[in-house]
Amino acid sequence: MKCISCNEQEPNKASGLCNDCEQVEQGKINGLLYLPAAGLIIALMYTPWELWEFCQAVLNYFHMAGIISWYAIGAILLIVLYMAITVFAALQFFRRRKKTPRAMAGYYLFGLISALYFTVLPATLFGAAFDQNDIRTLLSAAVGVVLWLPYFFISKRINRVFVF
Ligand SMILES: [Zn+2]
Repeated sequence: MKCISCNEQEPNKASGLCNDCEQVEQGKINGLLYLPAAGLIIALMYTPWELWEFCQAVLNYFHMAGIISWYAIGAILLIVLYMAITVFAALQFFRRRKKTPRAMAGYYLFGLISALYFTVLPATLFGAAFDQNDIRTLLSAAVGVVLWLPYFFISKRINRVFVF
């Protein structure tokens, strides 16, 4: 039996890979890292659409009532900023840059801030109803800050993956 990847060296029993190939494998974005990768990709696709929808709602309201609220302006700025932070974090992440943990920390923290802005703030300011969507939004943002943010700083694998 030779290594299942390079077919040259003696493999380790557990992985079927030799030491060299095991190291290459550990440097890849795989396993648990598929989850933040998927999160970034979904955010990259979803946020522009969200911005488009929100702007349309604001414009419709403007045509009807003749005003744009400060809340709406803040919300649009927040979505644009969130988009920029997400693009930056994704660039760091997928190019496996060393700055990835800090970029991801910004992405998760800002995700929580905007989740609060879109759920808790309207509920307190205008007494808006708190629905299941809001709870889902808040929960996934909280998971980002409570689980994923520390993971990017604590996990030993991170230093092997994000090396550039
Ligand atoms: Zn090998």
